[in-house]
Amino acid sequence: MASLTVITGPMFSGKTRKLLNIYNHILATGRKRDVVLIKPDTDTRENVTHDGETYNPVVVGSGDNKAFKEIMDKNGFIFIDEAQFFGREIYEIIRASVQSDEGKVIYVAGLDLDSDGVPYGIMPDLLALADEVLKLNANCDACGKDGVARSTYCKVDKTQRDLIGGTDLFMALCWECRHELRGGGGAKFIKELEERVGSKAVNIVPTMDKGCMKVEFEDGSSLNVGWDLSGEGSDLK
Ligand SMILES: [Zn+2]
Repeated sequence: MASLTVITGPMFSGKTRKLLNIYNHILATGRKRDVVLIKPDTDTRENVTHDGETYNPVVVGSGDNKAFKEIMDKNGFIFIDEAQFFGREIYEIIRASVQSDEGKVIYVAGLDLDSDGVPYGIMPDLLALADEVLKLNANCDACGKDGVARSTYCKVDKTQRDLIGGTDLFMALCWECRHELRGGGGAKFIKELEERVGSKAVNIVPTMDKGCMKVEFEDGSSLNVGWDLSGEGSDLK
């Protein structure tokens, strides 16, 4: 019987890790010939999970329907990572397969929301089509609470939706911290720091301790600061 499982959540929630665990398990049962792991060429990062495992996906153009269809036709177990980057027609190929009697077993991992908090690409449709959905949460990089972060936060001004990066550009935040950082006390605190330093904050990096961050300014200087949900920030000694 055909099945579609969608693994989703923000960055750093372990989606690829989960996908690879299932992929490795299927391979370990002796199936090798008709199992494939696919990722779109949009994702130019190295094939290493956030916890350090390397893997070897087949890279397919995000709009290369022909190549995608050929791979689908040849395999019975299909694992797709970073699915948010694939185009509409590729979604239609997946839908046709799931709703046919081909009996393919498909696992998809991808971001449910982009860093603006908007449903990402074909993911909402895949979630609607899925037989099973696994929603994973990340640990919040601001308040440090485990398993509460549902959103990916971009630390720089984005020039394109499909910005590719890791902890250099993104962090995972719970909604409460995201609200504070974007519009609440956090934003006010950053503004105060900018006025004090006399330079625009260009990067906010969570540091070694949860709830602490390094704010980098346009003039090249930086400050390590503490920040809490009351919006009260303080310099760290
Ligand atoms: Zn938080």
